[in-house]
Amino acid sequence: MAEFDVDLFVIGGGSGGVRAARIAAGYGARVMVAEEYRMGGTCVIRGCVPKKLFVIGSHVHDEIEDAAGFGWSIGQVSFDWATLIANKDKEIARLERAYTTNVEKSGARIVKTRAVLEDAHTIRLATGEKLTAKVILIATGGAPNHGPAIPGIEHVISSNEAFHLKELPKRIVIQGGGYIALEFAGIFAGFGSDVSVIYRGDNILRGFDEDVRKHLRAEMEKRGITIITGSTVAKVDKHGKDFTTHLSSGSSIASDQVMFAIGRHPNVANLGLETAGVVINPANGGIQVDGWSKTSVDNIYAIGDVTHRTNLTPVAIREGHAFADSVFGKRPVQVDHATIPTAVFSQPEIGTVGLTEEEARAQFSHVDIYKADFRPIKATMSGRDTRVLMKLVVDGTSDRMLGCHIVGDAAAEITQAVAIAVKMKATKADFDATIALHPTAAEELVTMRTPSARHVRQAAE
Ligand code: FAD
Ligand code: NDP
Repeated sequence: MAEFDVDLFVIGGGSGGVRAARIAAGYGARVMVAEEYRMGGTCVIRGCVPKKLFVIGSHVHDEIEDAAGFGWSIGQVSFDWATLIANKDKEIARLERAYTTNVEKSGARIVKTRAVLEDAHTIRLATGEKLTAKVILIATGGAPNHGPAIPGIEHVISSNEAFHLKELPKRIVIQGGGYIALEFAGIFAGFGSDVSVIYRGDNILRGFDEDVRKHLRAEMEKRGITIITGSTVAKVDKHGKDFTTHLSSGSSIASDQVMFAIGRHPNVANLGLETAGVVINPANGGIQVDGWSKTSVDNIYAIGDVTHRTNLTPVAIREGHAFADSVFGKRPVQVDHATIPTAVFSQPEIGTVGLTEEEARAQFSHVDIYKADFRPIKATMSGRDTRVLMKLVVDGTSDRMLGCHIVGDAAAEITQAVAIAVKMKATKADFDATIALHPTAAEELVTMRTPSARHVRQAAE
């Protein structure tokens, strides 16, 4: 009889857990996955996928507006929120089934229940059943922060609820200046809502390149989104179906919904971590892991958002894959967390990879900046008041491309390709040697010849 009920028990059927389970099962391991909500996890059920479908849907508004300059007259148009939600739900249900089938096809078993640690080798299911596992993988993801306990916090929704609203809000207040706040601001504005973004700092997207932050803010404001900085939500009052949001500045805003997108926390509570001896990283509140995603307990690993390293789906997937290769496939591999491309699906969207100008100038003595800020060809005929930003950050000593930052249509798609070059340590000369693809916006990346700025740090006396 086997010493353990299973070789691998995965807690969480999201992006990372599913990949790890399938790969480990492919190596012949006996694998069980517990999922307490819906297979696919945050990204598929209430994250990247439904969000991107909303972005695509809301962007149609721009296409319709832009059409007139190209000779189209489009009659009366209307938008039906209920149809969008129903079709999105259908697609998400299809994906959930596909995730389930793919896990089962790999030979892993799914249990649709909550699972917690009883000790380092024992899992307790919400059904009361207990199972032993040689290796345990914690892939429980994260959840939205509710924020401080201000009066009226119970009226505030998070991105989870935003995917299931019965009606499109005519007016919405969104607190936060990060990925989710800005993506949903664009979504709701595109569908016709009056959107106010409330951000506590001096400009949105802290941590992104300064030029990107300024450019996106200006573009969002051109689209009619109100961005209030240096303020927080102090109180939310409800009157019938309406809300009044009181800001720390003393002003107030009326709306039909109030949403907070103020970060997410790792799902570590009530998981039995303490009893099993799994240590939390005091720096970020996620499960502490080493380069192999191993926790403080030898046979327990953790991947994805629950470790609060880089909370992106492809990262969780890569960590899950590397774990399974290393532990079950005799192919030890560590995930390289450097130079991860990322996009904010705001409107216009942002694509970024590598260092910001500020980071580069802190790390390198010579930094060259190449910048193009231009009107995209489509706008010349549509008449839309919009500009694209492309920025390259180059090590002035080695000529190596350190970072690329784009704000504009297809920024994410362009950045995925540029990320290969940056990862390969391409130089500015490599970009220059590449012949442009005309007429595109991306050709600017290989045609910017003159630096807009050269920064040289004086050596300390
Ligand atoms: P998850 O996908 O969150 O999966 C964890 C799973 O564990 C969940 O299904 C949960 O129900 C389950 N679970 C938790 N506890 C237990 C338990 N005790 N027992 C059983 N099951 C449990 N990333 C991108 O790269 N691109 C994007 O465009 C993007 N958009 C996003 C938009 C939104 C609105 C949000 C919220 C996130 C977005 N993300 C995006 C982030 C991305 O969704 C996460 O980084 C990714 O899902 C993390 O995967 P994971 O496997 O670590 O966790
Ligand atoms: P972010 O960390 O991106 O942004 C959180 C925002 O909320 C920041 O502007 C932050 O301000 C602000 N904030 C934090 N705490 C408070 C508070 N107490 N009161 C007021 N404001 C506050 O988190 P999100 O929730 O937007 O998204 C979570 C994560 O999910 C992202 O970081 C990303 O990893 C992932 N994600 C990825 C997406 C993508 O790849 N396109 C899309 C959506 C999510 P400050 O900057 O001042 O701290």
